[in-house]
Amino acid sequence: MVLLNDKQNDYRINFNSLGAPVSVEITCCGRHIGEMRLKDGEERKCTQCQTVHIVAMGHNHFHIRRR
Ligand SMILES: [Zn+2]
Repeated sequence: MVLLNDKQNDYRINFNSLGAPVSVEITCCGRHIGEMRLKDGEERKCTQCQTVHIVAMGHNHFHIRRR
């Protein structure tokens, strides 16, 4: 297992040409596990550690949470 790896867990936010955030690419356990649209309730599960990554939209903001 590689411990000296600061990309073990990473969220990459993609923006459209107008500068609005549109999606988030998730890296968990050092692997790219998928891309979520910024839509309330979108989620991806890491099959390695079973962590579920969830998008929670607010009025003028969003959260990316783990469960
Ligand atoms: Zn994981």
